[in-house]
Amino acid sequence: MEKTDIKSLTLPELKDLLHEMGEKPFRAGQLYQWMHEKLAASFDEMTNLSKELREKLKENCTYTTLRTVCVKISKIDDTRKYLFELNDGNVIESVLMRYKHGNSVCISSQVGCRMGCRFCASTLDGLERNLTPSEMLEQIYRIQRDTGERVSNVVVMGSGEPMDNYDNLIRFIRLLSGEGGLSISQRNITVSTCGIVPGIRKLAEEKLQITLALSLHAPNDEVRRELMPIARRYSLDEVMDACRYYFEKTGRRLTFEYSLVQGVNDNLDEARALVRLIKDQHGHVNLIPVNPIKERDYVRSGRQAIEAFKNLLEKSGINVTVRREMGKDIDGACGQLRKSFIDDERKEGE
Ligand code: SF4
Repeated sequence: MEKTDIKSLTLPELKDLLHEMGEKPFRAGQLYQWMHEKLAASFDEMTNLSKELREKLKENCTYTTLRTVCVKISKIDDTRKYLFELNDGNVIESVLMRYKHGNSVCISSQVGCRMGCRFCASTLDGLERNLTPSEMLEQIYRIQRDTGERVSNVVVMGSGEPMDNYDNLIRFIRLLSGEGGLSISQRNITVSTCGIVPGIRKLAEEKLQITLALSLHAPNDEVRRELMPIARRYSLDEVMDACRYYFEKTGRRLTFEYSLVQGVNDNLDEARALVRLIKDQHGHVNLIPVNPIKERDYVRSGRQAIEAFKNLLEKSGINVTVRREMGKDIDGACGQLRKSFIDDERKEGE
């Protein structure tokens, strides 16, 4: 019989499970608190549960934990990049960023990714598998335990396309923001998508108050298709309609992520096209100086080009920010720490 992934269960589901085991309902509350509030590392830490119950749980359930393979700590701003090993030996990346408003953790939602965005290291080896809700939660729990500091913001923007792992994503958000766990406000949770239209529309119906970030990266279909294969499936018109729908349904303003790549999407004609594209949207543009990856020959836009692009947007009445670079000295684009770890292991194998 397959074991139950206990940390992915909601409180009512946990009550049912314990009922089947012949336990009193209040035990479910204690167990839930150990897992999601006290962030216990194992069943053995749950000292107010009987030894007998702990043994029964070990027999019937898996308890998701992550092993820290390495942590890179920035000397500039104390950003921490974690490489975690999952129970099945796969590795994933998470990042802790420190802001004035609190600690923010960027998590992965899949092992690898199948979306194939040209500027991204996470997709170079394709998709390995989806992460479970407990594996997404555990990235945050592990970091909070490691630092002893509260995590107040979460961005699902690491490796993986969250909408490609939709059900686990929703369950993760509900466990993270619900009562009895870390209870992180949904307004402090951001989910980033490359533009999977049915996913955006479905998410709009979930009655969540999270922020949706769209990886836009180009102001027209032609350039976007060059950078992001998903753009061959959904046109910008369809994506923009879905974004409008998301705002209508949730009242939440969107973030439009735009990575600036020299000579590809950073000239002023493209800035004007971007203004036309999003002027009737409710949201703001976040410009990201692209992080070069060695497997591709994309180059980050120069400082002047970034300034000019930003100024044109601002003058046209668009809210715009340039993403502050965190952990410059431990740099590497999203997914690169994992990629170099896997490449090193391969070399050793050979
Ligand atoms: S940018 Fe996101 S969606 Fe695109 S390949 Fe990378 S992880 Fe996947």
